Amino acid sequence: MVVGEIAESVDLLVVGAGPGGYVAAIRAAQLGRSVVLVDCKGEAGVGGVCLNVGCIPSKALIEVADAAHRASSLSQAGLTAILSIDLGQWQKHRTALIGDLADGIRTLLRSAGVTLVAGELHFTRPSQAIVETPQGQALFFEFKDVVIATGSRPTPVSTLPRDGERVLDSTDALALTEVPKSLVVVGGGYIGLELGTAFAKLGSSVTIVEAEKSLLPGMDTKVVRPVTTRLRDLGVTVLANAFVESYDGQRLIVRAAKDVAPILTDVVIVAVGRTPNTDDLGLDRLGVKPNERGKLVVDPDRRLSRHVAAVGDVTPGPMLAHKASSEAIVAAEALSGHRSVYQPAAIPEVVFSDPEIAIAGLSEAEARQQGWDPIVATFPLAASGRAATIDCKRQGFLSLVADRGTGAVLGAHCVGPHASELIAEGVLAIEMGATLEDLAATVHPHPTLSEQYHEAAHLALGRPVNLPSRSQD
Ligand code: FAD
Ligand code: NAD
Repeated sequence: MVVGEIAESVDLLVVGAGPGGYVAAIRAAQLGRSVVLVDCKGEAGVGGVCLNVGCIPSKALIEVADAAHRASSLSQAGLTAILSIDLGQWQKHRTALIGDLADGIRTLLRSAGVTLVAGELHFTRPSQAIVETPQGQALFFEFKDVVIATGSRPTPVSTLPRDGERVLDSTDALALTEVPKSLVVVGGGYIGLELGTAFAKLGSSVTIVEAEKSLLPGMDTKVVRPVTTRLRDLGVTVLANAFVESYDGQRLIVRAAKDVAPILTDVVIVAVGRTPNTDDLGLDRLGVKPNERGKLVVDPDRRLSRHVAAVGDVTPGPMLAHKASSEAIVAAEALSGHRSVYQPAAIPEVVFSDPEIAIAGLSEAEARQQGWDPIVATFPLAASGRAATIDCKRQGFLSLVADRGTGAVLGAHCVGPHASELIAEGVLAIEMGATLEDLAATVHPHPTLSEQYHEAAHLALGRPVNLPSRSQD
């Protein structure tokens, strides 16, 4: 790299070292490209939001909260436990955990020959960019190809300006060193449910304020219902059709239906969605324009033009780490002259709520809209032996959506413990064009939750074994 006006030439420049950017960089390097990967935070940025302030720390917190809650709810099974949580100690655990994983990614980048550069990048010409380093230097790069993988940031709410102490975003919430006595989460989506549930299990009194008529709007009410029930059991208050009017550091004024209710709360976590980081990159210099939602609309090979590709949270579709990484492989291959297309038959979506929700492929309504004649079979967790050993309440199910004529599996909807793991079998079935007969003929280990696939397939085929009669949904 060169300091000053003379630019260093690079083959492929990747902007952003999250699960989109670092994967694109490694794949392109495997294909023989010389790659420079730029991230605002440099070495500390590898893994992006997902590793540093998103997927990994949130799941680590959920794990601890679940362990505490589970241990304290097993008295009927003979386990008595006195538990306390030291969130300050958890922060040390989190730092070590993330540090280990980040070390792993840095090693992968080094061994692939990728050069990592710290600094904020802005495009200056169609094939040139400036990087402002944390030390105040300006580095210039002349590139042949570029991958934009700058991710997203929390969307603010005007009535709740973030102060990092009382009004938090998800990053602040995951940095807390004490469990708040009371907290309100504004937004009943992925983050609201995951963090709200975790803090409720750790002892906070939690209220979730959701603008739409139910939690996780857009998801089938069937999959959301068990989660709503569990939240009630945990003592979480859910206010739907509700908006925050103001917060003075103690009293949060919420308008729900016709009522205006003050809620006393120590902390407010704002989780109303995320905004793509496409506004401050100088994209016009590249000849690229985001859509009205700030997203970069890409071709099937993730390119916007011959030499420009975009992946991850900056492109349309769900803002998920595995989507970013899958797109990244395609973008790196396409920019390196290979035929590659991003065309997954299903992208799994998982909410790490209690119980977990995991969906892939089509719902019954979507299948019908697309012209299929769907058959749906739902195997309830109440009929699963393994579920009984995990959770005596056994709230949840596995639903398969299939084409009535051919038996082709079109969708899988799973609610319950380890749904996040179980959904992979459904995704594989959809991607491989498996049929109900394939799932029914596959021997699943007993006693496991995975048997639900086998059972649901038998049910759909009209020959249930561990259920008395055909499910009617
Ligand atoms: P990011 O991970 O956002 O990385 C973008 C990188 O670009 C950052 O490191 C940033 O520093 C850098 N950057 C930005 N602008 C510039 C610039 N101008 N110059 C240089 N560098 C720049 N997804 C899941 O699939 N599963 C989960 O369980 C999950 N949990 C989540 C929990 C939370 C609390 C949050 C907030 C998100 C979660 N997500 C989860 C979403 C997931 O984190 C994102 O979808 C994923 O990180 C997107 O990857 P990305 O590569 O597009 O961008
Ligand atoms: P989200 O889009 O999942 O949910 C936002 C919620 O806030 C919605 O239910 C919306 O109706 C509500 N809302 C919007 N404006 C509001 C307002 N003014 N008052 C009250 N409610 C309001 O967004 P998120 O929870 O912030 O998460 C951002 C993204 O990060 C997710 O969409 C997801 O892509 C990703 N994520 C994924 C996971 C996972 O994969 N397990 C976990 C966390 C985050």
